[in-house]
Parts: sequence; C-alpha cells; structure tokens
Amino acid sequence: MGKPSRISLAEVQRQVDGAQRRGDSAHFDFSEGRAPTLADLTESLFFSPGDGRIWLNDQRMVLMHSSALGHLRRELIDTLGLHRARGLLTRAGYVAGARDAELVRARWPDADAASVFMAGTRLHALEGVVKVTPLAFEFDIDQGRYEGEFLWEHASEDDEHIAAYGIGTEPACWSQVGYASGYVTTLFGQLVVFREVECRSMGASACRVVGRHAAAWGDVSEDLRYLQARDYRELRSEAAEPLAATPAARPAPRRRPSDDRHELVGASSAFNSACHQLDRVAPTQATVLFTGESGVGKEAFARRLHRISRRAEQPFVAVNCAAIPETLIESELFGVDRGAFTGASRSRAGRFERADGGTLFLDEIGSLSLVAQGKLLRALQEGEIERVGGSQTLHVDVRLVAATNVDLQAEVKAGRFREDLFYRLNVYPVHLPPLRERRDDVPLLMNHFLQRESLRHGRATRGFTPRAVRALLSYAFPGNIRELQNLVERGVISAEDGSAIDVPHLFRREQLSDETLLAIGAQGVLAAPRSAGQPPLRLRDAAPQATLHDIEGRLLREVLAECDGNVTAAARQLGLSRAQFAYKLDKTQSPARRRTRRPKAGAE
Ligand SMILES: [Zn+2]
Repeated sequence: MGKPSRISLAEVQRQVDGAQRRGDSAHFDFSEGRAPTLADLTESLFFSPGDGRIWLNDQRMVLMHSSALGHLRRELIDTLGLHRARGLLTRAGYVAGARDAELVRARWPDADAASVFMAGTRLHALEGVVKVTPLAFEFDIDQGRYEGEFLWEHASEDDEHIAAYGIGTEPACWSQVGYASGYVTTLFGQLVVFREVECRSMGASACRVVGRHAAAWGDVSEDLRYLQARDYRELRSEAAEPLAATPAARPAPRRRPSDDRHELVGASSAFNSACHQLDRVAPTQATVLFTGESGVGKEAFARRLHRISRRAEQPFVAVNCAAIPETLIESELFGVDRGAFTGASRSRAGRFERADGGTLFLDEIGSLSLVAQGKLLRALQEGEIERVGGSQTLHVDVRLVAATNVDLQAEVKAGRFREDLFYRLNVYPVHLPPLRERRDDVPLLMNHFLQRESLRHGRATRGFTPRAVRALLSYAFPGNIRELQNLVERGVISAEDGSAIDVPHLFRREQLSDETLLAIGAQGVLAAPRSAGQPPLRLRDAAPQATLHDIEGRLLREVLAECDGNVTAAARQLGLSRAQFAYKLDKTQSPARRRTRRPKAGAE
C-alpha cells in the first residue's frame, strides 16, 4: 500500500483527457477507467418514486431546489449572523462528505487510495453541487501528507450567495469546503483542512480550493472555528453583527481561560444536536441530567454548560458520587460541623456550599444512598442544606447538573432511587451518544488528541499508519472518548519520534484477537475486539484459501448466530450500526440476490 504518489498538473490534464493508463504505480490515472468511475457512482443512485425515496447506495438522499437551499442559507445568515451561519453550513457539509467517504470505502473496499480520493470529486459533481477538476494532487498516507488543489466550477453555493448578496470580499462556498474536509479527513483519518483561496463570490471566474494536512497549514484555529461546534455564547454574540464586518476587521473574541482537557470536539449530527440542546438550556436555571455510557464526556459537557451559563464567573464544583465512600458522601456534599462525629475536629464546608452561586455537578448520581438522596431532594426543593451535626439551616443558590450511566428509571422501579428525586432531576435530560454512533467525529478526535498528547509528552510522531486509521475507525470503543484518548496517548508514547503510530502502538495484545488483526488487514472488514469476559470470537473452519470476502461474510453470520439472530445486538458486537451490519451482510450474499433487493424496496 501507500507508495508516495505525486502528480503534476500536466499529468492530470493528460490523464483527464483520457491518456493511456501508465504502468508506473507512482502515477495515478484519473480517467474514467478506474473504479469507482462516474458511471459506477451513478449506478448507485436509485430513484424510487413509488415509495418516496432516493438512494445513494444505502443512504437516503433528497432532491432539493437549489433556490430553496439558497433561501435557507439567506435566512440563516440574516438571523444568526455570518459566522454562525457559516459554521452551521460548514459542519453540515462536513457530515455529507464524511457520509460519502464511508459509502465509497464500504462499496469499493479494493479501490486504490487515489481513486477513492477522486471519487469524492465525482460524487460532489453527481450530487449537483459543483464541477471539480483536480489541478495538483499529491499524497503519501504513510508519511501523513496530503496536498490537493482543485478548480470548482458552477458552484451552486456561489449562485445562491451572489443572487442574495452580490460580489463581496469573502469566499462563500462554505458547505462545499466542509464537504471536502469531511470526505478527505474521513478517508485519511487525519484532519485535512480545505480553504477556498479564490471564489466566484469574490469576483473570480471559478473557485479554487487547496486542501492540506492540518499540521502543514500551521495555524488552523480559524478553520476549526467553523468546523467544530464551539462555545455557543461567543457565536451568539456575533449574531447581531452586521454582514459587512469581515473576520479581519473584527476584534478577536476574548479567549476565556479554558481547560483544554474539557474542550469538546466534533462535527457529527449526533454531537451537534447535543450541543444545541445544551445551548438551549444553558441560560436557564433548569436542572440538567446527562445520560450516556461511561467515557462519553459527561463532565466536559457539564463544564461547557457552566461556561456558557449566567453563572460562568461563579464556581463549578464536580463530585463523582461513586468515588466517595457511602459513609462520607453526606459530609462531603453538605459539610460538617465541629464535633459531629469522632475525628471531626474542624467545621468544614461541603461541596454544596462551595458551589454557592455556581454549578454543582454530581456524576454517577445513581450511586447515592437513599439517605443522601433525601437530603439532596430537600436541598433542591428548599434551596437549604444542613451540615452533618449542625443545627443551622444554610441557604444555597446552586444549579444542579447531574449525570448517570445507569437507567435511573429502572433504579426507581427497583426501589434504589427515589422517584420524586428522579422527576426533579429529569427536567431536561440530554443524552450523549456513544462514540460508535458518532463515527464522523473519530478522525477529528484522533487529530485533536494526537496534537494534544504530542505536545504534552514532547513527542513528534508523524500521524497514524493507514492500518492504524482503519483499526481506529472500525473499533467499537466500549470506553468511548476516554478510551480513544487513552489509545492515542499510548500511541504517542510508544511510537518512535518521526515515525507514524501503528496498530501495536495503540492496542495491547489482549485488546485485539488474531481475527481482529486479520480483519484490520482487510479493507471493508470491520471487526471489533470483544469486551472482557466474552468468549474469543472464532472463525470456525476458515479455510486458509478463503477470500476476505468469505471471511467477512462468515464473521457477520457467526456473530449473528451467536446473538440468536438479533441484528441490533450483532451489529453492536462488531461496532457497527444496525444499517451498516445489514448492508454488509447483504453485500456478502450473492450478487444476483443483491441486485433484486432495491426494486423490491421500491415496490413495497
Ligand atoms: Zn466559491
């Protein structure tokens, strides 16, 4: 894999013009001969008007009027301000690009890297967004380098922008730039940032974009500003800003001293919807309950909630209820008065008092004893607490934010959690998705942790090897973001300076079964290590001459059988969505059978 690949403009022109395919593997042929061709991609587009659906392979599409999108775009700009609208559109584009990259990878697992990169330009054209011509294109996956320059003609976004605002001083192809970044980043597994250096909305005859690996650009904070859901308060303050103001003319937003560890990174729709919920509830006084698996970043969300609330200048106090022994939890939360019990020689304020005026974050609230739950309820209802051993009632003004990774409703049914407290906490629940449900964010998070851990440990690693990228993109992450962060940190420490992080640097032997390593070697096979306590996954009677296609099929069917035919459970075992699992299973059936499926769906 991954021979350094360079191509000159003249070479591209010659090849685009249909010149002969060269035997030299260092050169790539952009002519229509290499899969997936435009014809291949067009074939995966199905119109199913009988049931009101359009499919691009297994993804549902919508045919929209460009002018309706233009109208939406204009309203976004007028109501939210230029920068926030640009952020929303860039992220929406990123998601579309990431989806298309997944589609190409799943559908053409054997295509070479250059063709897969180029398929993005063809899909972008097929979807009616823009005509793309490569001007220069050079990448080296092993060295973690990507550099591409493309000409964009007839950009739909420019048509609408110019119609609404005329020619201006800023580029306007925001969602298209997001798409390019999402597509290449998802394939590459490292953050590749695209910039529009010339745009029709600035008076150019066509748009020109340049994509580079984030490290090669140097400072990408301005790009990330649109790519990542950011501090919503900062963004909101821009809403009132007149459209004419350019980013350069505007004073830089005040950087709040923020703990980098708690920065939220993501562009996926699941992540964005959680951020929007947060944005909605933050300015209120409502109690917020975060639910979600361990390691999804509940504390980071709680900190962000505090930071964008009106209590931002007041204390944020976090308590992990499960980490404090049951006998101490009350004194920890509510404080102690001298002489309350043997050893309490000094009076001490509890976390409630320390959080006065600010936010108290109670993690793993399900582990509180029933006695402590009763006191907590009183504190919430009356705004009053009593120290342990104290006789005085103290007034506290605290906004409570709680988190749980257990089903509190089930705990209520089991008699382990007070129902009245549950309803008190469950005013505004925010569910944080597990990492396997926001895979679009994995490359962004990989890049984020790589930068941070390299800096922290003084290492100069050169990104990830292609198989490390595939392993991370297909891993189930039972420990979610915290696990990804730990894996990357281990990788940064284990890899030699100047070399790329590979699979053995990331995973410990016991985390990966032989079958998983085999699966990682095969593009398109997604297998995840099983969690502890489960029997090792075995590919029974896998003949040595079996093709990877066969092995993938067996793996899928075997896991399905182990899960008693429950597709959802089987998908979870392999770190796939239900739809992905069903699609892959379907793909391993005979081609003849597959072909008949789509029309059937149309006729139902
Ligand atoms: Zn443009």
